[in-house]
Amino acid sequence: MSCKEHNAEERNPHHTELYGSIPKTCLPIVYHSDYNITFMGLEKLHPFDAGKWGKVIHFLKEEKFITDGNLVEAREATEEDLLVAHTKRYLNRLKWSPVVATITEIPPLVFLPNFLVQRKVLKPLRTQTGGTIMAGKLAVERGWAINVGGGFHHCSGDRGGGFCAYADITLAIKFLFERVDGISRATIIDLDAHQGNGHERDFLDDQRVFIMDMYNCHIYPRDGYAKKAIKRKVELDWGTEDSEYLQKVELHCEGALNEVRPDIIIYNAGTDILDGDPLGGLSISPHGIVKRDELVFRAARRRGIPILMVTSGGYQKKTARIIADSILNLHHQGLIGPEAMEGEGSSSLVMSLMSGPGSAGSAFTTI
Ligand SMILES: [Zn+2]
Repeated sequence: MSCKEHNAEERNPHHTELYGSIPKTCLPIVYHSDYNITFMGLEKLHPFDAGKWGKVIHFLKEEKFITDGNLVEAREATEEDLLVAHTKRYLNRLKWSPVVATITEIPPLVFLPNFLVQRKVLKPLRTQTGGTIMAGKLAVERGWAINVGGGFHHCSGDRGGGFCAYADITLAIKFLFERVDGISRATIIDLDAHQGNGHERDFLDDQRVFIMDMYNCHIYPRDGYAKKAIKRKVELDWGTEDSEYLQKVELHCEGALNEVRPDIIIYNAGTDILDGDPLGGLSISPHGIVKRDELVFRAARRRGIPILMVTSGGYQKKTARIIADSILNLHHQGLIGPEAMEGEGSSSLVMSLMSGPGSAGSAFTTI
């Protein structure tokens, strides 16, 4: 039995099941088995490990960091919830299977009736989106929260793409601005290998949102219009390795948070920066990913700024293990967990890190 929500708040602009109170006994780690996409082997046609979210949970349970009883169970975002960021026109377009096939890059979906596409593909994505929104509120309450899914940073209010059908980051921020007192400034730290053009388009003219984006500039989406929204842009070359990468993460995270102090940090922790990823084209080691997440959490926690992490892109077979190891490391470092305290020690970067050869690009485009 997972921890479930109670009592949606009355003062909200629309009734939502995503902002209920969560028992204190739960860790602010959000997940639902519905996150995983499985349907007659269809998922195997995509270059994704479409069950990575469940595997992360499996590893965290194996290490006894979480149990079914202290996990927060995500809820599916409803159409009303989605309309906080999306246009009706866009949501209606998702009722056409060919549109969803294009957005998710699963061509065979063209041939499926939309009710199956809704149930087998869009519902998992809507549940992950609900999870990100729920984790936003939890992060403010607890100082940190992790949605084991989400991070659909190529989707904006009126346009999907790169496997991203819903703009969960935009939604989480808009929910917080609308519903939580004292939250009026957000910083997005987007460290997925791809440019986060979805939230960038959504917040292009919104001075309340500071966007730092660090990505391989040679791959999808290369969205010049969206780049205008980035306040701190760090473009990486093919095959960037740990040493250079981690120096830049530390320099620019600290710099971004010194420049503007937000009320909430949304950390897009894509793991497609991993060496050998067919899409990311970077050469970061598993240890480098663990250190990266530690640097970002340290920068947030030292300042006492709530942080919400989403897992975003990265779907190699070994990805789930690395995400789990990183979450366990955050716990071991005292940065998350029931006992995690704010304002603890400073970081010291370990630079003697493994790195591999550069990776080639790919025709596929993903989160
Ligand atoms: Zn990506």
